[in-house]
Amino acid sequence: MEKTPVGRFAPTPSGRMHLGNVFAGLIAWLSVKSRNGRMVLRMEDLDTLRTSDEFAQTLREDLRWLGLTWDWEQTQQSRRSEIYDRYFAMLEEKGLLYPCYCTRSQLHSVDAPHRADGTYVYPGTCRNLADPPDRAPAWRVMVPQKTWALEDLLQGPYTENLATDCGDFVVRRADGVYVYQLAVTVDDGEAGVTEVVRGVDLLSSAPRQMYLQELFGFDHPAYGHVPLLLAPDGRRLSKRDKDLDLGYLRSHLKPEELIGSLAHTCGLLDRSEPISAEELRSEFSWEKLKKEDIYLDAQLLLG
Ligand SMILES: [Zn+2]
Repeated sequence: MEKTPVGRFAPTPSGRMHLGNVFAGLIAWLSVKSRNGRMVLRMEDLDTLRTSDEFAQTLREDLRWLGLTWDWEQTQQSRRSEIYDRYFAMLEEKGLLYPCYCTRSQLHSVDAPHRADGTYVYPGTCRNLADPPDRAPAWRVMVPQKTWALEDLLQGPYTENLATDCGDFVVRRADGVYVYQLAVTVDDGEAGVTEVVRGVDLLSSAPRQMYLQELFGFDHPAYGHVPLLLAPDGRRLSKRDKDLDLGYLRSHLKPEELIGSLAHTCGLLDRSEPISAEELRSEFSWEKLKKEDIYLDAQLLLG
């Protein structure tokens, strides 16, 4: 018998949700709730300068309006640094951490090896630094020559060798803030999350999280990386696209109309008709979902 699936919403409370966030949240909820699982809500507010409790409250209200329920809420990331300290210490005890003093411009210099998506591969510059400068370092975790492979629920097989494709990566910044990779691994692990559903732009961070899961003793969750929603001109939707954020959409549409449009656009429904998240549960399957980026026609959506 399958273990009760546990999924999660992990929004960043830095503004209103846009359609891409709604889409990823809807699929995460449907995947779990179509199998009578549980959902965890977690506010990812590591960046305390951009996030606020007001935005967090609005996000909760928007999720309720959409009918995307959650079974419990995990403590927000900005209040979990003592928990992250414990996992950081675990890496330290294993002898896997070292301080990195590289500046942003050094890391992004033209000689640094870069991977296909434009991010750099860290060459291990600070691994054996004889004469470290007198300032606070970031901390990196050493990665082994090993290939991580996952079978994404939507994207299929994905593999990455962390040593050659990524390099040792930062787990704590010089200002003491833990990075997303560490926080999300700890949070999902402690919440017993069994499946992580999010935008395909985060697919390449899965192997780093799988590595940390092994070091921390967590099981690997299943991964489902959903396509990005693009504006008609090909731009990625962002929080700057006020026209497609929930504040605007809520004043023009009923939740059933919004969910029906999204379900039709992504392949879950044959035609666009109003439907609630609850009713859509029985229609859900990963096989029906489109893999490719989805171009949105804002006019059509509001049509
Ligand atoms: Zn360095």
